Amino acid sequence: MSIMEAKLKSILLFGQPGVGKGTQGTIVGRVPGFCHLATGDMFRGLDRDSELGREFLKYSTQGLLVPDELTCRLWRQYVQGLIDTNKYLPGSDALLLDGIPRSPAQAKTLDDHIEVLAIVHLVCADEEELIQRMKRRADIQNRPDDADETVIRRRFEVFHSETAAVLDHYDPKLIHTVTATGSPGKILLNILNAVIPSMEGHFGNPLG
Ligand code: ADP
Repeated sequence: MSIMEAKLKSILLFGQPGVGKGTQGTIVGRVPGFCHLATGDMFRGLDRDSELGREFLKYSTQGLLVPDELTCRLWRQYVQGLIDTNKYLPGSDALLLDGIPRSPAQAKTLDDHIEVLAIVHLVCADEEELIQRMKRRADIQNRPDDADETVIRRRFEVFHSETAAVLDHYDPKLIHTVTATGSPGKILLNILNAVIPSMEGHFGNPLG
């Protein structure tokens, strides 16, 4: 099927950089009935020597967002690729979006493609703790955008000035605030408690 044909039932993982969207998204994405799509991974999968790959690095290494038009175009292609290769089955999986939308303009563009069932807003009041987490993962994941504290701080500024307003685009009833500190197991439990009821009646049993 083409992504232009039907709205994809989606769950948004939202929150500041370093708050654990990727960690939790990867785990939830292993549960049958979910397909995890992280735009950071999508971008990092680009060939660094290709034009798009260079474009991505130009922005991410400065802590800036990739322009909306390019982001949404790539996202569409990527989702279509997941459908075409049967990695994502729109009739039985919720698309778990991690890292998109990151601006109100992206949220508007995505309105043509997705039906949002729930939004998980992961929150951590302590930005210094987030910065420490990101510096630690920079070495492990080979992420130049996390290695430099100035760049990390820029990403927080961008979150506040460009990304935070994304929440205003959606019905507040869809938004579930989940505390992102404490044990990963507890955070996972709280995420599942928030999203599972919102999926009820939207999909068949994925295991048949
Ligand atoms: P984190 O998990 O720390 O929030 P990501 O891995 O999601 O970071 O993203 C890494 C970088 O990729 C971002 O700093 C940004 O440059 C780019 N990026 C990811 N998603 C988007 C998006 N939706 N719009 C624009 N740029 C994006």
